[in-house]
Amino acid sequence: MKKVLLFLIDSMMPDVLEQSVAEEKARAFRFFMERGQYINDCVTVFPTMTASIDCSLITGVYPDEHKVPGLIWYDPVEKKIINYLNGALPVLQTGIEHCARNVLFDLNERHLSKDVKTIHEEIEERGRTSGSINVIAHRGHKEHRVELPFLLDAVMGFRMSEKVSGPTIFSLGTLVKPAIFRPVTWNWSQSPLASYGLNDPYAIDVLIEVVKSGKQPDFTLIYLPDNDHKLHKTPHLAVEHLSQVDAQIVRFLRTFDSWEQALEQNIFLFISDHGQTVIGPGPEHNIPLEELLSGFTILKLGDTVQEDVEVVICNNERMSYLYPVADGVLPKLVKAVEGDERIDLIAWKEAEWVRVKQGGTERTLSFRKGGDRRDCYRNEWTIKGDWRVLDLKESEGGGVDYGDYPDALSRLYGALFSQAIQVVVVTAAPGFEFLSACSPTHLGGGSHGSLHKRDSLVPLLIAGASRPMPYPARIVDVKGFILQELALHATVV
Ligand SMILES: [Zn+2]
Repeated sequence: MKKVLLFLIDSMMPDVLEQSVAEEKARAFRFFMERGQYINDCVTVFPTMTASIDCSLITGVYPDEHKVPGLIWYDPVEKKIINYLNGALPVLQTGIEHCARNVLFDLNERHLSKDVKTIHEEIEERGRTSGSINVIAHRGHKEHRVELPFLLDAVMGFRMSEKVSGPTIFSLGTLVKPAIFRPVTWNWSQSPLASYGLNDPYAIDVLIEVVKSGKQPDFTLIYLPDNDHKLHKTPHLAVEHLSQVDAQIVRFLRTFDSWEQALEQNIFLFISDHGQTVIGPGPEHNIPLEELLSGFTILKLGDTVQEDVEVVICNNERMSYLYPVADGVLPKLVKAVEGDERIDLIAWKEAEWVRVKQGGTERTLSFRKGGDRRDCYRNEWTIKGDWRVLDLKESEGGGVDYGDYPDALSRLYGALFSQAIQVVVVTAAPGFEFLSACSPTHLGGGSHGSLHKRDSLVPLLIAGASRPMPYPARIVDVKGFILQELALHATVV
């Protein structure tokens, strides 16, 4: 039976992929496109930030079920901000130890709900093998020892016996090395300057060694992050950045006698986690959250919520979670942000309802699960108010169709109901992003996080599979497709 390889390429966008192929700057992608199925509008998860998306990719559900709300969110139990290492400054402010612990241990062992199963767990429970290379969401049934580099070890004070769970073949940069015969020989991509091996060349080095070792698992998920870092800085060079990813795929394909042989032995899937939106060059393209919320006492980064704190800001670039942590603050919080036209959507929950306002207008919309409005993903809804807020349209059969905000209802619901506590979601209009203490900003560069289609539609390229991926496609459907290809039917948990 064929093995499955799923490449997760950070911030790969459909138009850039198509342009790279058309300009003959992507030989590997062209090879697979000519032999496979290409979907240019696969819908990702909201917020369009890596951590919550990775969790959805491996569990097949939105954050209301897997319970990881975003890259940055507020944990009401610890009364602290959770940051899975976004940006050097907020990490320093929040504490390197805290952030590294969040991403290395808590994300998989504490935050990711035990009520859902990861693809690795499902595959290995049925006697097959699974693999994960450099993906931060990796929960599985095997325990792996973390080898912390000396510097990080000293900062965090971890014991060398710390373990994380993962599938049988598991690699996380140089922190967790896979159990294969040949060690990956040291090169520059493993140095601390290259994020401890959390980069494209190292991930491909590991993959090549896994295949050469003869221990290639039935399924392997490989995360390639470099495209995202480059796009944030120079979005106008998008084709060049993606062609460098293609070069890494070409390097992997050379492991085989021919590219055709690679395809005979493997099903290849290439997907992205989210898109990016170009941010305007001037400072007015940053929406200053602390300024807008100057009437509230805001939690300082690195602090714990005490009685005097009213609001916690968790900035996910083009989306933010604003947590009203004191009584009666929520309506005032909505009022404080609703007048700014740079804010696209403001959403919160009331019992089972989601309320949405369009920034800078009087338009409002409410929806809840269940009802007579069916969408193209076979979910049913009750919708009241002005449909223009979420660019909803009536479908031919009297259901609901999506426009600028793909799968808007399930995705917004997924973010708001990821936690039981009250929270206000705000998204930035195209061309804008949120500014808050120490947050990374990208004036004139690229950014993401919002519900808008520019951040939300990703390419999905599949070659060598036995059947086509059903259309329309979402990231949460990929797990089920892979289990089917491996002749393992998805279980309901
Ligand atoms: Zn990014």
